[in-house]
Parts: sequence; C-alpha cells; structure tokens
Amino acid sequence: MPELVRDKALVLRTQDHAETDRIVSALSEGRGRLELLVKGARRLERPFGAVLDILNLAEIIYYRRRSGLHLLREATLLQDFPRIREDLARLEAALLLLRWAWELVPREVPDPRPFRLTQSFLLALGESPAPQTLLAAYRLRLLSLLGYRPALQGCVACGKAEDLFWVPERGGLLCRACGGEGLAVPPRLQKAMDGLLRLPLAALLRLRLAPADLAEIERLTLAFREVQLAR
Ligand SMILES: [Zn+2]
Repeated sequence: MPELVRDKALVLRTQDHAETDRIVSALSEGRGRLELLVKGARRLERPFGAVLDILNLAEIIYYRRRSGLHLLREATLLQDFPRIREDLARLEAALLLLRWAWELVPREVPDPRPFRLTQSFLLALGESPAPQTLLAAYRLRLLSLLGYRPALQGCVACGKAEDLFWVPERGGLLCRACGGEGLAVPPRLQKAMDGLLRLPLAALLRLRLAPADLAEIERLTLAFREVQLAR
C-alpha cells in the first residue's frame, strides 16, 4: 500500500487531466512542491468543491506514490485569502508570486521554508496597500532561500558601498574598481533592494517605493534569476 500523508498546501495551479480528473500543483509544508492527481475534479459533483482552486490553502491527505503523481484523498479549506481576491492589484501580485513558487521551488524536497515564506507573504498581501513592493521582496527572499542570495550590502569583492554595478554572474553588486560595469545601481536602489531582502514584514508593509524604482528592481531581479539559475 502507498503511504498516506497529511500536509498543508497552497494551490499554485491546476490543469485538466484525462476525462474528468485534474492535476493540482501545490506548495506543501512538508515536501516542497507536489503534483497531486484529483480524481473526478471536473465532474459536476466535484469531490472537494472549490477547495483546490488556485490561491487556496488546504489541509490535504494523499497517497504518496513513488513516481511523481500522488493521489489526493481528502482536502479541507484552511484559508482562501478573501482580502487578496477582492482587490485586483493584490490578486495580480499574488498570482505572480505563486508563479515564482511554481517555477522555482523544487519538487519533493522536505524543506518547510518556501511554504512558510509564501504563506506569510500571502497573508501580508491581504493587508498591503502596495502589493508590488511585497512581490519584489518575495522574489528576492525566495531566491535567497533556495541558495541564490544576491549580495546587496556592497561590492561583493571589496565591500565598498559606492559606485556599484549589477553583475549577476558575480552574485550581485560589484564596484567599478573591482571590475563592475554595465547596469549602474545608485545608492537609493541599493538601499531599497537591501530593505526588500531584510526588513521584517511589518516594516515592508510601510515601505513605499517609486514605480520606476520597482520596475528597475524587477529588471535586476529577473536578470539575476536568469543568470544564477542557468548555472
Ligand atoms: Zn569592490
């Protein structure tokens, strides 16, 4: 008999499977990202109703199979984040956040930190007047958790905090004297990114960044992710 496992999981995405089934990708507390087969999920009488809709947090019980796809037996809704769903800007940020989790968190890895980070950011998003700021912080923190922490406090080679450039190949900021060139990172932006990475959530909720700075931070973060994860 396959092992029966109980866990908590956030629904990252769902896709149709066979005639009436659905495959749910979820971020679990116990085993990272999971792919769960939900039998009959597209029948009129769905076995779990809307419990497994995207952005829900559920308690799940599943049969653990050796090959990738596990079989869901029970699901109970724990949280559906209504304060995110009622606000378009929050919802957009939440869906991008879930997408990052889906793309980056490895499958079947017993590390609860990505789940806890994601859950705490979704709870904060529900209170946030600036969802894009939280999303920017989440991206940097998820990368860090997974072993790709960008160097943001100064030059990665000498520690100097001026005349800095963004050099993802070297792990973050590099000053001109140490060979930095290309994308200049002014002190304002460096402080903002460092804050996004390290401030407590309560302080993040009060942080206000100019839209142009947020756009630039997104560009730097995406470049960093692309270079670092290609290694
Ligand atoms: Zn340097």
